[in-house]
Amino acid sequence: MKTVIIGLDCLEPTLVDRWPGDLPTFAKLRSMGAWGRMKSCIPPITVPAWSCMTSSRDPGALGIYGFRNRTDFSYKGLAFATSDWVKADRLWDILSAHGKTCAVLGVPGTFPIVRPVNGQMVSCFLTPGMQSNWAYPPSLKNEIAGWLGGEDYIFDVADFRSTDKARILADIHEMTRRRFIVAHSLLQKYQPDFFMMVEMGSDRVHHGFWHYMDAAHRKFEPGHPLASAIHDYYMLLDAEIARLLAHVDLHETNVLLISDHGAKRLDGGICINDWLVREGWLVLKSNPPRGTPLAKCDVDWSRTRAWGEGGYYARVCLNVKGREPEGIVEQSDYENVRDELGAKLALIPDDCGQPLQNSVLKPQEIYRRVEGIPPDLIVIFGDLHWRAVGTLGHDTLHTLENDTGPDEANHAQFGFFNWIVPGQTVRTEPMDIDILDIAPTVLALMLQPVPDGMQGRTLFPI
Ligand SMILES: [Zn+2]
Repeated sequence: MKTVIIGLDCLEPTLVDRWPGDLPTFAKLRSMGAWGRMKSCIPPITVPAWSCMTSSRDPGALGIYGFRNRTDFSYKGLAFATSDWVKADRLWDILSAHGKTCAVLGVPGTFPIVRPVNGQMVSCFLTPGMQSNWAYPPSLKNEIAGWLGGEDYIFDVADFRSTDKARILADIHEMTRRRFIVAHSLLQKYQPDFFMMVEMGSDRVHHGFWHYMDAAHRKFEPGHPLASAIHDYYMLLDAEIARLLAHVDLHETNVLLISDHGAKRLDGGICINDWLVREGWLVLKSNPPRGTPLAKCDVDWSRTRAWGEGGYYARVCLNVKGREPEGIVEQSDYENVRDELGAKLALIPDDCGQPLQNSVLKPQEIYRRVEGIPPDLIVIFGDLHWRAVGTLGHDTLHTLENDTGPDEANHAQFGFFNWIVPGQTVRTEPMDIDILDIAPTVLALMLQPVPDGMQGRTLFPI
């Protein structure tokens, strides 16, 4: 059986439910298969989520804890996790090795292209530009230029955390239109055994426009002309999916629509490093101006026990003797110190003093294995309604503005899925699946062995 996976980054299941009359393709596909929520990895972030999904390994096993990761125990900050960080085989590696043809379009975690596939690959949204190594085989670049009538393929919306909302919205639509033209052309011309694409527009539209739609959002403005931006974009996706699937034989192909995580309103940010300074864990030699990154602060490492990195969640690292260059936390005291700090982080309240019920997690307790250099603590504030701000010098510990530009949504733990499998019973009730179950299920449906090391299970009786 062939497989078509249409990945819709950040697509939020409750929004698909909210507008069934306006999303006829989503409604029709739901009536044909299994559907519900997909529990993402922790943290539910694009990098590593798509690689977790396609390798059936958790972030600890991959050693990828977010877009950026520690490469050593120095204080120099984090490096971007590019495709060469992913050591585990992903679906297209496994299927290529078994002689199946694959076309892979824009799946996060594929730039640069370091391993050939038995077919075609276009790298992901982190591709820096048209001059990069983004197509396999390289001649695919010219083919794509032809399919797009000479217009450039768009990897991602430039500067999507900007205040120029009209420009962002137009760019999102144009990016999606062009990506689906390429998807269409790949499917029609090559008819691969395995096709997988990921559209990023669904993530960008949430981050840029959530506050116009959601009356519970702090920045909600009733009757705003952009109130329907997300709804209208979902309608665009619905129409594009219908056009794409018109060329797919649903009797011999299993079709999976899936997101890597969901989306929810963002209430604000917790200034994690300012908090660590105030509580005496992080010691600075001088007070930095507002918004200064930690790397530009004058840190007194000889008196610092912990520091943090911001993002959709906070990573907190301890300054451990014999591990970090100027570590002061005794190794024998490590677990006590980690527990003491974790208990305090769990109690950070919102800007009105109300509890946020933060989750403070130890990588060794939530992952099967811990590869690479994980943070010592993973902190998720207010069930992801709050993000972590890593810069310092803010007037308050809570900020309603994101330090990397306007951002109106955060990721949610549960994404969307709808799986149409020929011959399988249609489900009338939703079901929950796990991100790690996708790869073994795809392999089983394609009658391929499931390799050792995959952490998920096969979802359907094959
Ligand atoms: Zn994502």
